[in-house]
Amino acid sequence: MAAPALPPVTLPYSRQQVSEDDIAAVVAVLRSDFLTQGAVVPAFEAAFAQAHGVAHAVAVTNATAALHLACLALGIGPGRRVWTSPNSFLASANAAAYCGATVDFVDIDPHTRNLGVPALADKLARAAREGTLPDLLIPVHFAGLPADLREMRALADRHGFRILADASHATGADYLGAPVGAEWADATVFSFHAVKVITCGEGGMVVTQDPELARQLRLLRSHGVEREPQRLQQLPAEPWVYEQQALGHNLRLTEMQAALGLSQLQRLPAMHADRCAQADRYDARLDGLPLRRPPRLADRGCAWHLYAVALDADAPPRAEVYRALRRAGIGVNVHYIPIHLQPWWRARGFAPGDFPAAEAWYAQALSLPLFPGLTAAQQDRVVDVLRTALESGR
Ligand SMILES: *Cc1c(COP(=O)(O)O)cnc(C)c1O
Repeated sequence: MAAPALPPVTLPYSRQQVSEDDIAAVVAVLRSDFLTQGAVVPAFEAAFAQAHGVAHAVAVTNATAALHLACLALGIGPGRRVWTSPNSFLASANAAAYCGATVDFVDIDPHTRNLGVPALADKLARAAREGTLPDLLIPVHFAGLPADLREMRALADRHGFRILADASHATGADYLGAPVGAEWADATVFSFHAVKVITCGEGGMVVTQDPELARQLRLLRSHGVEREPQRLQQLPAEPWVYEQQALGHNLRLTEMQAALGLSQLQRLPAMHADRCAQADRYDARLDGLPLRRPPRLADRGCAWHLYAVALDADAPPRAEVYRALRRAGIGVNVHYIPIHLQPWWRARGFAPGDFPAAEAWYAQALSLPLFPGLTAAQQDRVVDVLRTALESGR
């Protein structure tokens, strides 16, 4: 018999916060001359780059496109090898697959739930012996907690691969005293989907310190077209002349989306502080329950896109706890079904048991509601329903 249908979610696991200033910024664009290819996208890029201590920021339609273009700009194509974390959203792996690369995964650190450095070092040692070293590593800052990029950079320099960080969860995070994206990775991608830390509705950004990489990304997001007279390769530099120099796409962000993102970015410090306060409050209220709270590391600050706990082995089954919260209208979620367990990836040779730490995390994971504007009373209700569900089964 099918399980009874769950009632609608009244308290989602995440949602956007849109202010009157955000609305006014979007409306101002709608009244202006340019809905696309105006001055707001460059202004958003400049502000985002400045906030992240990085020289270049390139805005695109979403983070999936950002990952795809960054892979292309980093030379990924057929015959190249790309490794990523199985504990991520599908896009982290799909982006490399779009390019025709051979994708593999590196199991996670059970504490941080990020791609694990010991597992990476082992896999690299084996790959070095077999001549199958990766060309690119895509670590993911799961839940907004930065991955161990310093150690990954040391391995990258030793073995000659590049690093594309998927910071889709991590806008506002910091690592070793600098904003995520400023150092360590060759390029870093952010998502502005409505459930993420700041939003454009849909939107993505690639940041990099490398001017040539930034130029490639700008070409690729707009048909491969170059308009700068001094960069034309063959056609005469007349005022109307443009040149297609690569097989690009149309993955531009609109001016309305950029206006929303730029306005949201002004509130990032306040929204980040709100997320941190909510995480602290959950930590305190969940003390003593049969679950592991999210990891905290002294040398990095989490963006708290997610507040994801792991139920203890002796707690009631995760499916029951999930349903109890959903029956109360609380939109808990599970991040993530390991990518390699998806049918499309199994058809490419992956199987259960390949990445046991990611599979063990998935079996016990539960993400609780956390978003700017979530009230203390709402958090208390989540904790009360969760406590009842955890106690009823014992
Ligand atoms: C959301 C997300 C993406 C994709 O972002 P979009 O902007 O929705 O394309 C990629 N990677 C991770 C880890 C994500 O959470």
